[in-house]
Amino acid sequence: MTRLTVTQPLLPPLEEFIPYLQRIWDSRILTNGGPLHQELEAALCTYLGVAHLSLFTNATTALMVAVQVLDLDGEVITTPFSFVAGAHALRQRNLEPVFVDVEPCTLNIDPQLIEAAITPRTSAIMAVHCYGNPCAIDAIQAIADRHRLKVLYDAAHAFGVRMQGRSILHAGALSVLSLHATKVFNTFEGGAIIAPDAGTKARIDQLKNFAMKNETTIEEIGLNGKMSEVHAAFGLLQLRYVDDAIARRAAVARRYREALRDVPGIECLPDGAQDAPNHSYFPVRVQSPYPLTRDGLYEMLKSQEILARRYFYPLITDFAAYRDLPSADPCHLPVAVEAAREILCLPIYPALTDDEVSRVIDAVVQPLHRVPHRGEHASPF
Ligand SMILES: *Cc1c(COP(=O)(O)O)cnc(C)c1O
Repeated sequence: MTRLTVTQPLLPPLEEFIPYLQRIWDSRILTNGGPLHQELEAALCTYLGVAHLSLFTNATTALMVAVQVLDLDGEVITTPFSFVAGAHALRQRNLEPVFVDVEPCTLNIDPQLIEAAITPRTSAIMAVHCYGNPCAIDAIQAIADRHRLKVLYDAAHAFGVRMQGRSILHAGALSVLSLHATKVFNTFEGGAIIAPDAGTKARIDQLKNFAMKNETTIEEIGLNGKMSEVHAAFGLLQLRYVDDAIARRAAVARRYREALRDVPGIECLPDGAQDAPNHSYFPVRVQSPYPLTRDGLYEMLKSQEILARRYFYPLITDFAAYRDLPSADPCHLPVAVEAAREILCLPIYPALTDDEVSRVIDAVVQPLHRVPHRGEHASPF
């Protein structure tokens, strides 16, 4: 039985990558904003419908630079229901994350709870478009404007997501994409900041290159966040395949939705308000009366070589590095705590075959039909 993982990176045919490598060997330019890097930045601007984008080695470094460009200090209000990278980026820049709970439907930060968490030290809101479902962008911006806060979006899941025909990457002061191997569009490792104007992009480009203003001038502290030519080349190749990849993801999501619609205790999360979802994840909630707990289902699938993932469990606020912060107290985060206990992300990726989707569906449905033998518990988990 082949092992199914929650995701599998999109890899175009190797022979199509060779001409790109030939270009690099011919130019002998390996990094530092070379021709392929520039070409990918331009191609992504066109594809995503944004005007200014700066490529990075990964999203975590990009988030650190975003925090620096926005000149944030003190406290930043954010979500506990996410991957830890955003909180790490804040701490790396000596900022204090202040966690507030999420909305039950989208599992994005709940705008109704943001205002109560604002203090004189608050400088920004860092929101995450969880699973690529857009945050309450307008409500968050209204609060930010009222309190003179900046908004930074961790848009790691939101490649290509649009609302009312417009990219959601325009929201807030800056948005950060991840182009990691596990994401919808990948450059092996990679990230990007979407900037509102050419001046901000120029500043970002400087900071990701050791903050070098020119050969002899360095005025602030920078880091090395530059994407190499090999990574950029892979992005250019992958961009040719990404529409087909998202279409295939949509077909997988449609089959899961149809097959699981009437399964008692299994609830598929809604696609959110966007008109162009990217189907980066397929999260379901596992609740009574489903015969297994979420962890029971997770273990049962694992025993059948289906590696679903509990995104996001544990919560960021459960990690030792964060749990002592006052805002990390689980009593203030009931919706996130429940989601961390109930959500399971099922395998979804372009190469997943129809038979494999059926295998996952059958495995999820099977505990409902299982009649326990005498002397045996209804579920081994
Ligand atoms: C993947 C991910 C990141 C980190 O991206 P890297 O490119 O691996 O640094 C940040 N935030 C979220 C929500 C993610 O899922």
